[in-house]
Amino acid sequence: MRKPTQRAPTAGQARPKYPCHVRVVDVNSQPETVPTIDDHSDVLIIGGGQAGLSAAYFLHRFGLAERYQLLDGAPGPGGAWQFRWPTLTLAAANRVHDLPGLGIVEALGADCDSFPAATAVPDYYRRYEHDFGLRIRRPVRVRSIQAEDPGFRATLTDGREITARLIVNATGTWDRPFIPYIPGAADFGGRQLHTHDYVGPDEFAGKRILVVGAGISAIQLLIEIARNAEGVQTFWCSRTEPEFNPKPFTPEQGRAAVARVEQRVRAGLPPRSVVSVTGLALTPTIAAARADGILQWRPMFTRITESGVCWDCGTGSPTAPPDHLDVDVIFWNTGFRSALDHLAPLHLRSAGGGITMTGRLATVVAADPRIQLLGYGPSASTIGANRAGREAARVVRDQLAELG
Ligand SMILES: Cc1cc2nc3c(=O)[nH]c(=O)nc-3n(C[C@H](O)[C@H](O)[C@H](O)COP(=O)(O)OP(=O)(O)OC[C@H]3O[C@@H](n4cnc5c(N)ncnc54)[C@H](O)[C@@H]3O)c2cc1C
Repeated sequence: MRKPTQRAPTAGQARPKYPCHVRVVDVNSQPETVPTIDDHSDVLIIGGGQAGLSAAYFLHRFGLAERYQLLDGAPGPGGAWQFRWPTLTLAAANRVHDLPGLGIVEALGADCDSFPAATAVPDYYRRYEHDFGLRIRRPVRVRSIQAEDPGFRATLTDGREITARLIVNATGTWDRPFIPYIPGAADFGGRQLHTHDYVGPDEFAGKRILVVGAGISAIQLLIEIARNAEGVQTFWCSRTEPEFNPKPFTPEQGRAAVARVEQRVRAGLPPRSVVSVTGLALTPTIAAARADGILQWRPMFTRITESGVCWDCGTGSPTAPPDHLDVDVIFWNTGFRSALDHLAPLHLRSAGGGITMTGRLATVVAADPRIQLLGYGPSASTIGANRAGREAARVVRDQLAELG
């Protein structure tokens, strides 16, 4: 087994290559056996994505390999990446940063950019978990966490109960797709779907589809559908028109954007996605789509009707009819929220609507420092998750030393 302290071999050193192979993940497949779990662990990590793996890696590195267990609700390794749409390649992703101690290129081979993220990242994480011997139990989903002196009681979805002294929550956002409330949504006779449910452009052939959203997913999928679904007609709208930045995004801008999100969570406000505060880069793909008239932006509609959407719908009259657009599909690319329902019994939310965070990297819940949230706010990216995992392990090490 690879030791967490071991550094990845440098380029040119002989190393076994992990073969890139196409594999279809059946996300519905479940192992036949019920995974064994410990009734008690000092530290309970919830979630086995980038953030949870990073935390586990550093706990091993700090000599705490026997003090935690990691429960992951997903059927296999990969965190949310195993559920991404099949047309998203590693190259098209925003960038999957290396987990600490083993890089994705080392794990997969250097030429995997064209492989679907939904299989390549799970392959990478599987190798990572195996090489470092991480203590992961799956599929095991936590339904709720209750405070119980001197720690916590977790109830699992299968009814089992376990206890822990410290909680490291790393449950991501994928399980909480967000669709804003718009009057009339229930009246729509066509199909509505969210990014979460997208599988590819072909199913929209010959349809009129309205893409809603101003983030990277909205733009990427609008272009993908417009270019690849035969006979499709696409429309696009969002609350605000995104700004496309023609200059390459600098690390300073990235840090400033993350700092703004961090300020929000330290103030107890709901986090915004890091991209929502950075704007979008004007890539050659986006520039070409603009030139081809694919990115014709409209403001957000105000009502959904049986056959589509309308703007200023109440003002229809013979002289000023409502502005109406008939569509077959409304495709919501309106983001995700943090998957934290299982923490609701702990009443962590502040008056501002978010959870007030503290600590060096804002991983610690101010209302109860025995709980850390990773992948929340400033750490909701693969690089942020890495750093938050390290910080969480450091905080846990200090807290365990105090608890004895
Ligand atoms: C569409 C999309 C594209 C993105 N692209 C990028 C990108 O290119 N680059 C980037 O850096 N970031 C990207 N992100 C952000 C990305 O999700 C994070 O960077 C990162 O992968 C999230 O890691 P995580 O560990 O926080 O969460 P996840 O990868 O979501 O892992 C959370 C895990 O927790 C499990 N879980 C959830 N609830 C429970 C529960 N109650 N009990 C047990 N287990 C539970 C889930 O099953 C999952 O396995 C993207 C996000 C989205 C939505």
